[in-house]
Amino acid sequence: MGHDLRGAGQARSLPAHRGSAAVAQAEVQRVVSERKTIYTAGAWRSAASGATREVLDPADGSVLAVVAEGGTTDVDAAVSAARDAFDLGPWRTVPARERAALLHRTADLLRRDRDRIGLMESLDAGKTLEEGRADVDCVVDAFRYFAGLVAGEDAGRVVDAGDPDVHSVVVHEPVGVCALITPWNYPLLQASWKIAPALAAGNTFVIKPSEITPLTTVALMELLAEAGLPDGVANLVTGAGDPVGARLSAHPDVDLVSFTGGLVSGTKVMRAAAESVKKVALELGGKNPNVVFADACATDEGFDTAVDQALNAAFIHSGQVCSAGSRLIVEESVHERFVTELARRAERIRIGRGTDPGVECGPLVSAAQRERTESHVAAALAEGAVLRAGGERPDGPGYFYRPTVLDRCHRRMRVVREEVFGPVLTVETFRSEEEAVALANDTEYGLAGGVWTSDAGRARRVAGRMRHGTVWINDFHPYLPQAEWGGFGKSGIGRELGPSGLAEYRESKHVYQNLAPRPVRWFAG
Ligand code: NAD
Repeated sequence: MGHDLRGAGQARSLPAHRGSAAVAQAEVQRVVSERKTIYTAGAWRSAASGATREVLDPADGSVLAVVAEGGTTDVDAAVSAARDAFDLGPWRTVPARERAALLHRTADLLRRDRDRIGLMESLDAGKTLEEGRADVDCVVDAFRYFAGLVAGEDAGRVVDAGDPDVHSVVVHEPVGVCALITPWNYPLLQASWKIAPALAAGNTFVIKPSEITPLTTVALMELLAEAGLPDGVANLVTGAGDPVGARLSAHPDVDLVSFTGGLVSGTKVMRAAAESVKKVALELGGKNPNVVFADACATDEGFDTAVDQALNAAFIHSGQVCSAGSRLIVEESVHERFVTELARRAERIRIGRGTDPGVECGPLVSAAQRERTESHVAAALAEGAVLRAGGERPDGPGYFYRPTVLDRCHRRMRVVREEVFGPVLTVETFRSEEEAVALANDTEYGLAGGVWTSDAGRARRVAGRMRHGTVWINDFHPYLPQAEWGGFGKSGIGRELGPSGLAEYRESKHVYQNLAPRPVRWFAG
């Protein structure tokens, strides 16, 4: 998912933030003070081993903060706290209206702290300040959505057993202790898509943010405590995927693991969870098509819109978006005009530190992420792709990479098949609707995709045939908290957001009450 920033303040008119960045740096230091970033049973702690990890500023590689590097001992303590808080209550039996009120209070606190948390996200994940703040707004929306969903709900469903002497109901109960594992690209947003429904349903949890971007999750835990969440309901362990995420996925006292991240780690989580038959929800990667028919470009306005949105689809947050429109599939007859304009505009994207005024794209999150991007581009060029824009790092510090357009790509290229998770757009062409659909579906993933056409019938036909969890018609990237988000194929299992996003965190229980019990006499003796 990405942001629909239309209507938000223009990146070009951002005021100078150097002063507030210094304030944010100080805030970061306060939040991770004494390196106590592990939160269990309502107390902030260092790692049991005393180990720490440096969190780097991707805009210059400097140390932004030092956090606790948790291990299996810390995980076991956090799971034990969450287990006790679930089994002994009272959170799971608190009336839904009170749980909803807690979520609303958290949303209010996030609104109050929008600027400082948005800035912290910008510094940690390298996104622009505008995006960091928009993330906080989306988090507020998620908390409010799940609060509204449970507050207005019936307590259960009466089932007709076909017998007036039977009272039969289906009720929902929380799953139990949830392990929540999140990635680095939308640290706070991904956390909220899990935390809000988990709490709304009455669960307790242990969250493990990405070791690359843990800061705003630490801040969110502070706000949950301030909102009045009982101790032990929310727990946090900062640390590496293995051992922290691996231990959580395998832990016998964890009932559900909800993971957002890459395919490789997601497969490991599922394997580890199988041993104890936990419930598993996976939100994985995508290789998302953006299909442009020539009729969408018939007018100058239509052409400009389709190009502009293709740019946004591919390059917002430097392409580090699971639903990035990283595969442009454009009708042959408009291909040259479209790619020429797209490349011209890609070259003009202003990259820099996300808190600097006028910056439109920040750095990649790490040196490793940039190297991965470079290796994909080099392989594509060796396989015959034509470079139309970018293809290099700019001079200077930080993990920056220029927005890159690779033309004349084809389905056998690695760059077309694998998720790059960087600012790289591949271009393929088609001649018929049939071919367009085939190309759009030619991926092992199935997270999201867009189709651009002025023909309403074609739009519905193509959208209906696209095997992706979200399909945008004449748009790209917007999502709604009330609409399910997730993927077909290897993009994952289950859905976040919407009613299904709450259902993930619930068990259904059928309670059958016989009001006039009698012997069955199945056995005669
Ligand atoms: P990643 O898989 O490297 O890490 C994700 C999380 O898993 C991190 O917290 C990491 O520490 C943890 N982890 C790593 N190994 C683990 C293991 N063996 N057991 C348990 N946990 C482990 O992913 P990333 O690089 O942080 O994020 C980028 C990926 O996330 C991309 O593939 C992107 O498409 C995906 N993503 C998907 C969505 C979605 O909604 N489908 C949203 C955002 C990101």
